Amino acid sequence: MKQSFDYYMPAKVCFRAGASKDAARFIKGSNVLIISDPFLLKTGVAEAIGNSMTGKNVAYFGEIEPNPSCESVDKAAAAAREMKTDCIIGLGGGSALDVAKIVACLADNEGSIYDYYAGGTRTLSDRKASLICIPTTAGTGSEVTNVGVYTNKKAGIKMPMVNDLFWADVAIIDPELTYTLPAAITASTGMDAFCHAIEAYWNKNSQPICDMMAMTALKNIMEHIKTAYEEPDNKEARGAMLAASLFAGIAFSQTRTTGIHALSFPLTTEFGASHGIACSVTLPAFIRISTQGEKEKMESLASYLGYESVQSLADGVEELMVSMKMPVRLHEIGVKESDLAHITEVGMGAPIIQLTPAIMNEETVHGLLKSIL
Ligand code: NAD
Repeated sequence: MKQSFDYYMPAKVCFRAGASKDAARFIKGSNVLIISDPFLLKTGVAEAIGNSMTGKNVAYFGEIEPNPSCESVDKAAAAAREMKTDCIIGLGGGSALDVAKIVACLADNEGSIYDYYAGGTRTLSDRKASLICIPTTAGTGSEVTNVGVYTNKKAGIKMPMVNDLFWADVAIIDPELTYTLPAAITASTGMDAFCHAIEAYWNKNSQPICDMMAMTALKNIMEHIKTAYEEPDNKEARGAMLAASLFAGIAFSQTRTTGIHALSFPLTTEFGASHGIACSVTLPAFIRISTQGEKEKMESLASYLGYESVQSLADGVEELMVSMKMPVRLHEIGVKESDLAHITEVGMGAPIIQLTPAIMNEETVHGLLKSIL
């Protein structure tokens, strides 16, 4: 076991069914902006939470698309500045939470997200508004990370931004909010959480606190994702999946992710795959090569999850994905052999790829992609 490591996760976590209707107790000040997505506004979920905040001046911003653009961030920031917001609540999947994180900062920092992100020259200096994150997908763990992921449409790239101002003050985790997730989103976001957990576990930055969280997350997902997929309002399965997403988020917030996430960015921006699909389509292939650098550790994980070997764990994960109608070959999301060199080049440009426990160079990455074409 590694005996040299650091751990820092400052968000208060409040996990219980119904907790989202009790968010007001965490809010100081009166002006509250709830940043959510069109589905949660249309179905009244955002309003029900806003209405529970007696005595607060609550406004809503709902123009958030999946893989949120810098333009949506700037629009939400304008709304936050106009109302002189005291508290930003991110309510939704990773897309809404990520927008909430930077908007809470931009409320008191001038300019556009482009000034601070991907080549921008300014530094976010302060965050006065408090930040509450309430996830409605069991996937990203964004509520407990200091990461935001934004799409720069001008450059056609999607990139993470890491900043300690992005830690939420409070993560309110309410499994009841996930009962409405359709089966396909349950599957893809759940396998995103699986990727976070396994990438934290095999990561070159792995450490014992995160290993424990990652292992629990992986076990929860293997045991409960199929039930959540088939029975949307199964309380036990939904709670276990949201806990898995939370633990996986905390784990990768310390270690960062690896090759799976590095390759997911071009698969989303250029082939339109949702984040969970873009990650999990390469997951079995990465499990197969993980023994190159972490043989014993991966064998012990396979055994903990009930498999005889790492290869049978990879097969089991692939079968699970197929049983949930998820793509397991790149051609299923529109990738052709002629695209592999470009995907390799973009993936190799993300420094996290070198946190993978295997040799990652143009040849090996291209070979991995070709093996699952
Ligand atoms: P998402 O937020 O893009 O939402 C996907 C879809 O699910 C949307 O159409 C949304 O309306 C719908 N949805 C959300 N909650 C629902 C519910 N309860 N019932 C029914 N429909 C619901 O998806 P996501 O996978 O949660 O987030 C993906 C984004 O998060 C990507 O941009 C990804 O890069 C980012 N991400 C961020 C982090 C982080 O640490 N900040 C980690 C991983 C991923």
